Amino acid sequence: MNKPVDTATLKALDRAHHLHPFTDLSGYARDGGRIISRAEHIYIYDSDGNRMLDGMSGLWCCNLGYSQPAIVEAVTRQLGELPYYNNFFRCSNQPAVELAAALVKVTSERFNHVFFTNSGSEANDTNIRLVHRYFDLLGKPQKKQIISRRNAYHGSTIAAASLGGMKAMHEQAIGLSYVHHINQPHCFELGGEHSPEDFGVAVARELEEKIDELGEDKVAAFIAEPVQGAGGVIVPPESYWPEIQRICDERDILFIADEVICGFGRTGRWFGSETYGIRPDLMTFAKAVTNGYMPLGGVMVSDKLADVLLASGGEFAHGLTYSGHPASCAAGLATLAIIEETGVIERAATALAPRLQSQLAALADHPIVGQVRGLGMFAAVELVRDKATRERLAPESEAAVYCRDWANAHGLMVRQTGDAMIMAPPLVSHPEEIDELIALLTRALDATAAHYGVRGS
Ligand code: PMP
Repeated sequence: MNKPVDTATLKALDRAHHLHPFTDLSGYARDGGRIISRAEHIYIYDSDGNRMLDGMSGLWCCNLGYSQPAIVEAVTRQLGELPYYNNFFRCSNQPAVELAAALVKVTSERFNHVFFTNSGSEANDTNIRLVHRYFDLLGKPQKKQIISRRNAYHGSTIAAASLGGMKAMHEQAIGLSYVHHINQPHCFELGGEHSPEDFGVAVARELEEKIDELGEDKVAAFIAEPVQGAGGVIVPPESYWPEIQRICDERDILFIADEVICGFGRTGRWFGSETYGIRPDLMTFAKAVTNGYMPLGGVMVSDKLADVLLASGGEFAHGLTYSGHPASCAAGLATLAIIEETGVIERAATALAPRLQSQLAALADHPIVGQVRGLGMFAAVELVRDKATRERLAPESEAAVYCRDWANAHGLMVRQTGDAMIMAPPLVSHPEEIDELIALLTRALDATAAHYGVRGS
């Protein structure tokens, strides 16, 4: 147990000394936040004694909830035996080796190698390094350009933020000159009067147009999340991925699937790439690989790249002090073992996801809801002033922030992105806890509609 400190002191110290990520720093220094003091199953507790259903699985990572003693034991055992050693200088450690082999087993047969990092951001930086190295080794050093999508999230290092397409981040960080963005498959926002299927094909073809514009001989890779998570759980139309895959197959560019959120069961299969039948050359993972218990990320490297990298000789000049950290890898191994032994992904996909998605779909009739979208165990609810015209509530985001704050204050942790409420509950939730989530969300929507005078027609 942490040494008891009174909450007021802790909050004052937090406000005085702790700069929080993605936070209005002056607002936080003035008003502070809540101290999360413990967690159990899918509930988090703050130091004021409030209990909240965690509808976000932490930050999309605690897919197995907060009560997994086998992960704690594995990490504790590892810290006692070998707390640290690096994987440079021809050294390795048992958990890193075993986790690499375990990841190869649960991913597509194209993947037989792993590069470990501490986070998803670093893994995406690693992708750039791998892709550039690959084409250099093939004697195509001019292939350096990377195509991504607007409103994508790929992390917060300079390179990962640059790969991402978040406007607010690009305003604060100078993007890399060799990264370019095309539109996202966001039907509600961009689809206009198109059918979802037509829109999906049209927006996928922007990739082809961008390759032609930049020159196929200059483009190295395309990066995308199977379902954009932080951007607002943007579930693409069915026609989107087949068209993207066709373009990637026909062109000499690599396809990077960022599975940091989709990986390890969120979409109903182990990986979003499986759900959509796509065949990435590189696959980014992080978050749920350790159930959020320890920091760990990495890249699954397909044979297409690995064969070239391994055949070439010469050093791959990239690595991190904690690449393949033994305690993080022990957490990863224990997490994978739980997923495999309990069949939690299949159970969530068949017993929980339909319950979550059908109850959310029923909320489409709510006066303030413009669209409900979701897949597997995540979803978004788009708020509008007018359903028919899709008129947004003004000012942008304010109503969704109100709705999120209302939900948070009444025992439900959900998030807001733009005008959308987003949720990704743990895969170990019980069916009645899904009902509890929906009931609380419905009350939050009612309160928001009442506050903003939205009555429907
Ligand atoms: N890629 C995606 C798709 C993500 O959602 C995130 C984190 N939300 C990242 C990369 C970055 O991961 P990290 O925060 O571990 O650096």
